[in-house]
Amino acid sequence: MRWLPLFLDLRGRPVLLVGGGEVALRKLRLLTAAGAQVTVVAPLIDPSIHQLAVESGVLLRETRFAAEHVSGHRLVVAATDDAAVNLQVAHAAEAAGLFCNVVDDGEASSAIVPSIIDRSPLMVAISTGGAAPMLARAIRERLEAQLDETTGALAALLQRWRPRITAALGDAARRRDFYSGLLRGALSDLLRQGRSADAERALEAALQSAARTSAAARGRVLLVGAGPGDAGLLTLRGLRALQEADVILHDKLVSSEVLDLARRDAERIDVGKRGGGESTPQGVINELLVEQARRGRVVVRLKGGDPFVFGRGGEEREHLLAHGIDVEVVPGITAALGAGASAGIALTHRGRAAGLRLLSAENGSEGLTIDWADHARSRDTLAIYMGLGALERIAAALRANGRSAATPVALVASATRRDQQVLRGTLADIAEAAAAAQLRTPVLCIVGEVAAEFAVGAADTAAAEPAP
Ligand code: SAH
Repeated sequence: MRWLPLFLDLRGRPVLLVGGGEVALRKLRLLTAAGAQVTVVAPLIDPSIHQLAVESGVLLRETRFAAEHVSGHRLVVAATDDAAVNLQVAHAAEAAGLFCNVVDDGEASSAIVPSIIDRSPLMVAISTGGAAPMLARAIRERLEAQLDETTGALAALLQRWRPRITAALGDAARRRDFYSGLLRGALSDLLRQGRSADAERALEAALQSAARTSAAARGRVLLVGAGPGDAGLLTLRGLRALQEADVILHDKLVSSEVLDLARRDAERIDVGKRGGGESTPQGVINELLVEQARRGRVVVRLKGGDPFVFGRGGEEREHLLAHGIDVEVVPGITAALGAGASAGIALTHRGRAAGLRLLSAENGSEGLTIDWADHARSRDTLAIYMGLGALERIAAALRANGRSAATPVALVASATRRDQQVLRGTLADIAEAAAAAQLRTPVLCIVGEVAAEFAVGAADTAAAEPAP
């Protein structure tokens, strides 16, 4: 990080602006808007600066810049069209221990002025430190569209209410909860419609109700699906949950990219389980969830993929409800969907597979036997979770029950992540190929015609059929 962003309170403070042309005028507008006491030095000063000077009490010195001009100021801005003069100004400022912004010259500057979105009291500053001004501009335009004119009014409203909110909700976590509820609520809409008195009343009602709710009653658990790995595949609701969380209990399957999106000061507990490795027993996780929620915390139980697809989310939900704790489930993109999309495998495809079955190779150990005969007969695509270790057995069972040995199989390892690998084969050879390839886990196994490599230009029988 070369530049530390910092907001200066320039009200009434002396600032020296060197330059008398159009560029200087732009800076002068900004500085006077911030309330600075500006002195302009230049041998020739533009009439528009003269006019602004009259309106805003700017001091003008129509003379060449000399090093002694910097003294007595808090900040110096060099905005002439002469690079040598600008450099001279920068040196004089440096020698006097002052920060200096040289317009359009990051190298010569000790301070830069970012691109800003002014929704006072909300202020957004964007800078690439001169590296890519176009990028900064594009980002600014995007943010500008998001932060419409009511944003400033909203910030001002919250500023006015802040002392009362702090007094009513002593606990920082409860306040955070309250604010995020507010921002999701109707406040912005009311302000947009110009109904500021209604917005004020809505805020008051929300605060009263929040103050009545006891701290412990606030505790709840969100079972959140983190998706298969790529952070872009997290849902917006999942993201919001991560930003509200006081504590996050996550699996090994959850990628660090997704965890990075969580509120920085949320406590993180790794209850990771991965085939064979160290694991926190389910009973301990259940107890931990109850205990954390009873402490009045917003608990996010973050799981790879979807919490209700081989994620034991159902058990956790039942346990929490049995203990009287509120549970919300935020779905995620399950591994099969992530793997299908990123490996280019259409899980259902007209003429190749009419349906999709999500199977776990491990259910057998928990009392439910897997009906391989039924799966072998079916023409649905089989998406098999946790199947890597049992691949040989699975392939043999499907073949033994009549599924052709030539049935295509794809293994998608680390789906949607940067280190994704795809290995293709058939029910005859996939187990051997997998052993040889030493795939990274986790691995999802896709069985069925759709798993075959798609050959560009190959006749597609489905395309000839009429649309439904
Ligand atoms: N709840 C998860 C599944 C947990 S079971 C979900 O909905 O995706 C764990 C199994 O999921 C792994 O053994 C593997 O088969 C599969 N899996 C999860 N994430 C994966 C990924 N990024 N790539 C491939 N397989 C994955």
